[in-house]
Order: sequence, then structure tokens, then C-alpha cells
Amino acid sequence: MANRMLMRVIFLAILLCAVPAMAGSGKVEWGYEGKTGPEHWGELSEEFELCSKGKEQSPVDISSPVPAKMRPLKFNYKRAEKLHVVNNGHTIKVSYPAGSILNAPNGKKYELLQFHFHAPSEHTVDGRAYPMEMHLVHKSKDGKIAVVGVFIKEGKKNRAMEKIWRELPEEEGEREEVDAGLNVIELLPASKSYYHYKGSFTTPPCTEGVDWFVLKQPIELSKEEIDEFRSIMDGNARPVQPLNERVIHMVK
Ligand SMILES: [Zn+2]
Repeated sequence: MANRMLMRVIFLAILLCAVPAMAGSGKVEWGYEGKTGPEHWGELSEEFELCSKGKEQSPVDISSPVPAKMRPLKFNYKRAEKLHVVNNGHTIKVSYPAGSILNAPNGKKYELLQFHFHAPSEHTVDGRAYPMEMHLVHKSKDGKIAVVGVFIKEGKKNRAMEKIWRELPEEEGEREEVDAGLNVIELLPASKSYYHYKGSFTTPPCTEGVDWFVLKQPIELSKEEIDEFRSIMDGNARPVQPLNERVIHMVK
């Protein structure tokens, strides 16, 4: 009798554990075109609601920014010996080792988690897109997100980026380990002037409350390097979103 009772309890416990786990494994598919494209993200899942209902979404078109006196961005980035590069089907993402800090103008410290790429750029300037954009994603100890956006234009071959570009994973799900010996600061432009506004993730679930710092000066990749990325991933850019009540500040 006691045995049967025990079996029942165990069975119930397994059921209670397994059902939520099964429900959680059904990841919602999203993409950049057709029925799962950006216009439909908000309908694909309740968790993606902000993608259609949010009022502070990213990216945005940067036109008539308002000059502001804010402190400069301070980058305390560390050199990384090894980098993990993954093609996750939405972008090519480079995970960065712990300990690289962005000191934001609000006095907050954010740690660099990863950087990734979009082609074409997601932010536009006066309605014009750049061929690509790099996003450096940072998180503070209390869970706030700050993203530094860097435009990429066609120009010279990029020596610092070359180490990563040699190992670009071509297939979805493919991972590469890169012996980098690279400090990500080498990827940034000389001028750290920036545009700042409050926005969101540019991918589902489109979470808001993100501090965006988009650098004014673009960096360069050669035509071949841009073509190489676009041969793997092209069109992974969300269209610009309404600015609504927000102001974009421009800081020298
Ligand atoms: Zn991004």
C-alpha cells in the first residue's frame, strides 16, 4: 500500500517536472522575412508583445539629434586570448571573456558580454543605412543593458577584425574558437562621439530600457570583407521604429 502511494507521488513529481520543461523547449521561430518577419514578431508569442506594442523600440533613424553635454564613454576593455564565435541563425556572435567594462555617462558600469553584426545597419542616419553595424552588448550588475552601436562602411581591409573574419562560421549552429589575441577596443573608431537614446533589443522579445550609444564615426571593412559576411548572413536588420516622445542626444 505504502509502495503504491510512493509510486504515485513519484509519478506525479515526474509529471510536474516534465510538463513545464517540454513547454519551454518549444522555441518560437522568428526571422527577417515572410510570416516570421519583423512585422509579425509581436504576434508570434505573448513574450514578444513589446515588438508591436512598445513605444521605445530600436533601431531608429537618427536625424536632427539634439546636442547635449554628457560625459564621454570610458572603455576599460581587456585583451581576449580566445574568442568563441557562433552562427546562431540570426547573427554571427562573438562571446567576450568577463572583465571588460564600459563606464557609461550615468556613472554606471556595464560589463561586455558579446558583440555581433547586422547587414545592412539597423540604425540609419538621415534615412541612410550603412552596409553593416556592430553591436557591443553590455550588462550592469543590476541587470541593465547598454549597447554600443558601431556603423561599418566600405573602405580599407580591417586588420583587427581579420582574425575573426578568417573563422566566420558559415552554417547555422556552427561554432568556432578563435585564437584572437585581440582587445575589442581595437575594433572601435578613433572618435568616441556618440548618439544616445533609450531603446530596446532589436530582436525578439524586443525588451525595452536599453541605453543605446551609437558611435558617430564608422569603422571600415573592405568590400571583400563585407561581401564575405553578406554571403553568410544578409538582411538581418530590423526596420527603424517610430521615435515617439524620445529625443536622441548627440555628445562630442
Ligand atoms: Zn544587434
